[in-house]
Amino acid sequence: MRRSPDSRSGFDNTPMRELTKVFDHATVDPKWYAFWEELGAFRADPTSDRPPFSMVLPPPNVTGWLHIGHALNQTVPDVVARWKRMRGYDVLWLPGTDHAGIATQNVVEKQLAAEKQTRHDLGREAFEARVWEWVKKSHGTITSQMRQLGSSVDWSRERFTLDDSLSRAVRRVFVTLHREGLIYRGTYLVSWCPRCRTALSDLEVVHKDTKGKLYQIKYPYTDGEGAVVVATTRPETMLGDTAVAVHPDDARYEGVVGRSVRLPVVDRELPFILDDFVDPEFGTGAVKVTPAHDPNDFEMGQRHDLPQVSVIDEDGKMTAEAGPYAGQDRFVARRALVERLEAEGLLVGVDDHVHAVGHCQRCGTVIEPLLSTQWFVKIKPLAERALEVVETGQTEFVPANWTKIYNDWMTNIHDWCISRQLWWGHRIPAWYCDTCGELIVAEETPSACSCGGALRQDTDVLDTWFSSGLWPFSTMGWPTDTPDLARYYPTTLLITAHDIIFFWVARMMMLGVKFAGGVPFKQVYITSLVRDEHGQKMSKSKGNVVDPLELIGEIGADAFRFTLAALASPGMDISLSEGRLRGYRQFINKIWNASRFVLMNLPEDLNTRPEVPDRDGLDVVHRWMLHRINELSAAVNAALESFRFDVAADRLYHAFWHEYADWYIELVKSHLQADGARRDDAVAVLLEVHDRILRMLHPFIPFVTEEIWQVLPQRPEDGRVQDRQTITLAAFPTPNPAWQDDEAESIVTLLQEVVTAVRTVRSEWGVPPA
Ligand SMILES: [Zn+2]
Ligand SMILES: [Zn+2]
Repeated sequence: MRRSPDSRSGFDNTPMRELTKVFDHATVDPKWYAFWEELGAFRADPTSDRPPFSMVLPPPNVTGWLHIGHALNQTVPDVVARWKRMRGYDVLWLPGTDHAGIATQNVVEKQLAAEKQTRHDLGREAFEARVWEWVKKSHGTITSQMRQLGSSVDWSRERFTLDDSLSRAVRRVFVTLHREGLIYRGTYLVSWCPRCRTALSDLEVVHKDTKGKLYQIKYPYTDGEGAVVVATTRPETMLGDTAVAVHPDDARYEGVVGRSVRLPVVDRELPFILDDFVDPEFGTGAVKVTPAHDPNDFEMGQRHDLPQVSVIDEDGKMTAEAGPYAGQDRFVARRALVERLEAEGLLVGVDDHVHAVGHCQRCGTVIEPLLSTQWFVKIKPLAERALEVVETGQTEFVPANWTKIYNDWMTNIHDWCISRQLWWGHRIPAWYCDTCGELIVAEETPSACSCGGALRQDTDVLDTWFSSGLWPFSTMGWPTDTPDLARYYPTTLLITAHDIIFFWVARMMMLGVKFAGGVPFKQVYITSLVRDEHGQKMSKSKGNVVDPLELIGEIGADAFRFTLAALASPGMDISLSEGRLRGYRQFINKIWNASRFVLMNLPEDLNTRPEVPDRDGLDVVHRWMLHRINELSAAVNAALESFRFDVAADRLYHAFWHEYADWYIELVKSHLQADGARRDDAVAVLLEVHDRILRMLHPFIPFVTEEIWQVLPQRPEDGRVQDRQTITLAAFPTPNPAWQDDEAESIVTLLQEVVTAVRTVRSEWGVPPA
């Protein structure tokens, strides 16, 4: 008969203690997760007298599915959270999900497309309602997957970036930054996705090396013979050229200022300008300048006060300014234009050319730099303070090389375009009066303009990273002063993936320092990338993507988690191999079988784990084991302290298998068959050591350790909460000074050497074991 958690009331003394023959994770895991939740074992308590330890979980997309990156980035902090909890900390690990503006909107738009509809057919309100419906369904998926993995987050504090309280924080931040002149509206060149029909931040643009062509085109001088040759990879943009630029020191173009060329097709007269930006070594040294469609040209245009001519619109089609190509798709127009230039003898050359082309991170469409009126955050003042707090050590990056990467990025950061032409997200709290032209930015929706005119709200929403940038404090109730905020902010530690350090970590740093009165985290641990067993990056196209849920189904969450932890070494990518996964699955079996052995050898009437007798009376085998368990607990704590999850897992694996199971259990078998003190000593030490190893293993393999721990006799005070006991709240072992025993260590080491030598000789000479 096995004791189930529901049948337990208090410390009951069920005499029969048994584990099933094999560990069945599919029934065991959900049982204990529900048990922990019901106990409130993961709940933080701001009134507690224990020291606080806090982390926020990087909120996965609400429509997401647990992938290998999440699995790693939840396993690693879960090991930390469980360890700290067992070390006596009041742990807050705050979970939640992100509304993920563009990603979520795209998912629902795809569903609509399958029904031959667009969001415009539905209208804004109905579309938003449709997204909410989908989000509610999807939210259950990702959160139940987190439970399957065993993440010990405080679900009572779960947040969503579109919660009312978080939306209030968003408005407060927006309005404050606007009042201080750190949010402004302006017409600038932005990266535009013609498919998503929205502006994108620099980070949402993926640059891919693409095979293209470099076209050389003649622009004839207006005042006589000859032409200047310019080169471009995007010939259709030439229709928006407003100048030709050369380097001021380029002798080939001496005296060119004042002259002009004629832009083919649209017959615009283009002046020459001199600008240091031009590289005289490239091509002819003369470059076309298209302020409305190229970021560098935009700036050159600002410097020289050039007109901006937009020839491509928000759908990626040519505008009326493009003359004969108006209305054509940009790539169709490119082909037609090149043919015409060729026919007119203006195309001097076409070369194959590999160059980086920006693509929309979400849909893969080639982005188009366009002029657009958008909202921006003036980033420099925020970045300066975010640099300062790292420099003064208020936040520390681990591994330390991320400090330089962070600093470089923060130093070269551009103003942040925060408006998105989407419908899913925080709508910008700005209203326009068409009567008097007033712009009102406010936290509360204003009823009317002071002139009496009607107001119309900005139709854009905020970049999804604007709200997730507030995550560490908006989730704790800011702008209200809450007990959580007072106790848990700044958070102690953030564990996150390297690919969102700029998207997310950098924004949290800037906004946390500015608004929450200090850094959002004292330490940031950046995890590595999980690759396949050949060290290849996992990708759908390579077909080497590992689905964590499939693995959990096959080998159980414990074996999967242990594998990830055992491979998680700071700064090193992880090669996830079948061999390691299988090996650690066997390790779980080994623990299970050893536990069954221990249980089978306990006296029937033993209901409490006995105290370990004084060292002096103990057999050297026990003294050695107690000494080793001391060493192990010192090593595991030290390894976890320094983020060496791999070292901690490795030490535990070898100690359990090669010291405890292979040697100690073998050596105490005869003691367990004896009577009196010999047996009592063996039972006491065996149980003590077994208990300690289970506790140390618990942060890595929570489910199987709880299942075993629950059937072992415990002391009434162990991991007690209300009338229950759980290993997850039992104390994490630290060395017991009374067990330090170098003498026992050297005796048993010698014995091991002798036994190993005898075994070797015996097998070499073919002597039977008897
Ligand atoms: Zn797109
Ligand atoms: Zn007005």
